[in-house]
Amino acid sequence: MAQQQTQGRERESNWAGNHHYRAAALHRPETVEQLQELVRGAAAVQALGSGHSFNAISDCDGIQVCLDKMPPLARIDEQAMTVTVDGGSSYGALATALAARGFALANLASLPHISVAGAIATATHGSGDGNANLAAAVVGLTLVDGTGEVRQVDAKDTPDFAGYVVGLGALGIVTEVTLAIEPAFTVAQHVYRDLPWEQLLADFDAVTGRAYSVSLFTDWSGDTVGQAWFKQRPGDGRTDDYPAELLGGTAATAAMHPLPGVSAVNCTQQLGVAGPWQDRLSHFRMAFMPSAGEEIQSEYLVDRAHAVPAINALRALSGIITPLLQVAEIRTVAADGLWLSTASGRDSVAFHFTWLREQAAVEEVVKAVEAALAPFGARPHWGKVFDAGSGALAPLYPRFADFVELAQRLDPEGKFRNAFLDEKVFGI
Ligand SMILES: Cc1cc2nc3c(=O)[nH]c(=O)nc-3n(C[C@H](O)[C@H](O)[C@H](O)COP(=O)(O)OP(=O)(O)OC[C@H]3O[C@@H](n4cnc5c(N)ncnc54)[C@H](O)[C@@H]3O)c2cc1C
Repeated sequence: MAQQQTQGRERESNWAGNHHYRAAALHRPETVEQLQELVRGAAAVQALGSGHSFNAISDCDGIQVCLDKMPPLARIDEQAMTVTVDGGSSYGALATALAARGFALANLASLPHISVAGAIATATHGSGDGNANLAAAVVGLTLVDGTGEVRQVDAKDTPDFAGYVVGLGALGIVTEVTLAIEPAFTVAQHVYRDLPWEQLLADFDAVTGRAYSVSLFTDWSGDTVGQAWFKQRPGDGRTDDYPAELLGGTAATAAMHPLPGVSAVNCTQQLGVAGPWQDRLSHFRMAFMPSAGEEIQSEYLVDRAHAVPAINALRALSGIITPLLQVAEIRTVAADGLWLSTASGRDSVAFHFTWLREQAAVEEVVKAVEAALAPFGARPHWGKVFDAGSGALAPLYPRFADFVELAQRLDPEGKFRNAFLDEKVFGI
């Protein structure tokens, strides 16, 4: 092993602390050559990003590899309107580098702390009727495959590129990601409280289409949605009108945290104050703890054509959902063409749950949630807690078998396979 590689465990568990890694060692290569050597020498290896997934997707019985000691990279190509980042970069670091040069990403997830490579591997998304998930911005990848070879693939010249991007860590270890960028823009965030469900469900499209990015926070009980966050992008053709009362709700007069009773100091600026995209598109600020910390998350995406019946099905489960819940969030995600994207081929509505950190109880309640959403073809978020196995997941993705074949091609010895992938993807 090269000297720079760190052996032994420094990170015992994921961010939420609900999964303890069983991999024997965590390595931090500083060069691509060291990474290749590690992959060639390992029987089982898995990339670890920032560890924000809630399940065992980044664990394995061999070694984990984290790229946060690789040389940082944020190479902007102003002609192509792309940026190329290293495989360990966080969205927060990337956003700072882009903003300093007057550029932007189209969207961000609720937190900037996550790594770009880890987020795209699980189809992480933000919200917005016109915003596809973060992986849809990827136009090129460099990765070390299961044989230790470096491969460069891109949207223009690689026939199966749509299979590579949401890779679940099964295809290789990504050392560089190239993403589409656009000129920097401003966003203003408006929060409304207590919007009646009846009014929201009467015209769901009018609510989610009202702003560039819309999030609805609920505990699934009662007659109203607790908070609606409208991230308005001035000049995008949508209304700039945010009156004191909207859709039956009332404009918040102080900054809000999505969790009831929690200080909003961790949250990005609200109250309609316009500011840079990177300081508004996420809900949580980079220098602060996102969300609650003591929590488990689950999320399901359904075709947005089923939004209203799916919401009604979840409201009917409030009796078992609400007692275990900290808060739930409803977002929308535009369709993309990526094989394992949770929004692949369909404009989607995403139902997110921030649960109490009670693992056994959460594992039980997600079975009921999955049963209620099954008629709508719900696809679970790859990085969160869910029950479905390969038998249930495969039919939800038209290119599932092609992905399995691609993984076998890039990793013939199955070095990147782990228990999660065997159970959820390969069906073993
Ligand atoms: C507080 C909180 C808020 C969240 N908010 C959102 C949200 O708004 N929207 C949303 O969709 N999700 C959200 N998530 C989920 C999160 O975005 C995903 O779990 C994401 O995968 C985390 O990225 P990571 O860097 O921590 O990846 P990890 O959890 O470390 O890894 C995830 C996967 O990526 C792979 N991977 C990591 N690095 C590489 C690499 N270099 N090459 C190849 N594969 C790699 C791993 O092997 C694994 O398969 C949230 C999570 C938390 C904790």
